[in-house]
Amino acid sequence: MAKVAVIGGSFAGLTGALEAKRKLGPGHQVVLVSNSESFVYIPSLIWVPFGWREVRDITVPLRPVLDKAGVEFVHASVQSVDPGVNRIVTSVGEIDYDFLLVASGVNVRFDLIEGLGPDRHTHSVCTPAHAEEARAAWERLVGDPGPVVIGASQGASCMGAGYEFLFNLEYAARKAGVRDRIDITWITPEPYLAHFGIDGMTGGEAMLKSFMKIFNINFIVNSEIEEVTADEVVLKSGRRLPFKYSMIIPPFNGARFVRESGDLGDDKGFIPVDDGYRHKRYPNVFAAGLAVAAPLPFKTPVPLGMPKTGFPSDESAKVAAHNIVQLIKGSTKLKQKPFGKIPGLCVLDAGHKEVLIATNHLLKPRQFAVMIPIPVANLVKRALEKYFLWKTRTGKSYLL
Ligand SMILES: Cc1cc2nc3c(=O)[nH]c(=O)nc-3n(C[C@H](O)[C@H](O)[C@H](O)COP(=O)(O)OP(=O)(O)OC[C@H]3O[C@@H](n4cnc5c(N)ncnc54)[C@H](O)[C@@H]3O)c2cc1C
Repeated sequence: MAKVAVIGGSFAGLTGALEAKRKLGPGHQVVLVSNSESFVYIPSLIWVPFGWREVRDITVPLRPVLDKAGVEFVHASVQSVDPGVNRIVTSVGEIDYDFLLVASGVNVRFDLIEGLGPDRHTHSVCTPAHAEEARAAWERLVGDPGPVVIGASQGASCMGAGYEFLFNLEYAARKAGVRDRIDITWITPEPYLAHFGIDGMTGGEAMLKSFMKIFNINFIVNSEIEEVTADEVVLKSGRRLPFKYSMIIPPFNGARFVRESGDLGDDKGFIPVDDGYRHKRYPNVFAAGLAVAAPLPFKTPVPLGMPKTGFPSDESAKVAAHNIVQLIKGSTKLKQKPFGKIPGLCVLDAGHKEVLIATNHLLKPRQFAVMIPIPVANLVKRALEKYFLWKTRTGKSYLL
């Protein structure tokens, strides 16, 4: 009997564990270790600050899903992994494994820029707690309006969430009747609007430029933040942007325990894998989702990272689980699907309107890449949320 351990219970970890168990059956053991007892549908966190979602609406407890599937759940924080002896050290004891799937996502690195983050001067929507804090501050802003700076810092990889928050705040300010007293500025490390860390797509820049114009939003591309004070974002160019409210997407590193586990990860804590998500040095270790090291094949004037969104996170976990199962069954026929070749499928909520983004490959060269605006409501994004929560609750990880 083989034992597969999975670290992480979000998009990649949950999918990887359920897929491995479904394919292996009762003869093998799958254990999922997560420091959170729940799956939270992170894409909907952008709605929490405006009161359009409560965190509980988008939360699924992991244990019932895993129990039903026959996956053992360990609620614990992983402190380190010793891939030399196939051992995970957690806050509740050690776990040995035959195969390991690391799907532990990222650590937000507010500390890389002076004054950044909810403990200092800017808000965030990267975690449920951050999104709830961002709501309290938003309510104060509605009572006492002033300038707003929204954006992504240098090194960020999740510009899409920043854009969504931007357009949702603009819409929320109009609904609250305070838009005329809120001057909004968007700052981004992207070389042009809608680059998204994937070198953009035809028509994307023009579309987002027109949104900025229609909704009277200032923007600065190629921006790098020097520091954030209590009431100003100071750019490296020397420009100072006063604010009463600011939400900035920070840079991400891999999970801390990866950085503290010898050569398990690279210097940023991401796991170096081949095109089948297998560790480049440890053949019984795999990684999926945000935890994977996915260097960009192009350079930008200001550094930024590749957006590893929900769909590629799920897909990489399916490939990793498939390959682990193949190896357990004695086959060396492994699937290969590098991150850049996974299709990009995403809905950008642009503030009660949305943009569907579909590319056959996340990175160029691509055979098709489209951005289709839907000017009224955000029905697709809401439908996707309902579908994904249903798929998670019912453990149907094999679906798209
Ligand atoms: C605000 C925001 C909006 C987004 N919007 C979209 C969107 O609209 N569409 C889209 O496709 N993608 C979106 N994304 C990206 C999407 O959320 C990620 O692709 C997805 O969360 C990646 O899943 P993951 O499983 O790789 O990592 P994560 O979701 O980061 O999960 C990591 C898991 O590991 C666990 N973990 C971490 N450290 C430890 C430890 N030491 N011990 C034990 N467990 C640990 C965590 O508890 C968690 O379960 C958004 C992201 C953000 C931040």
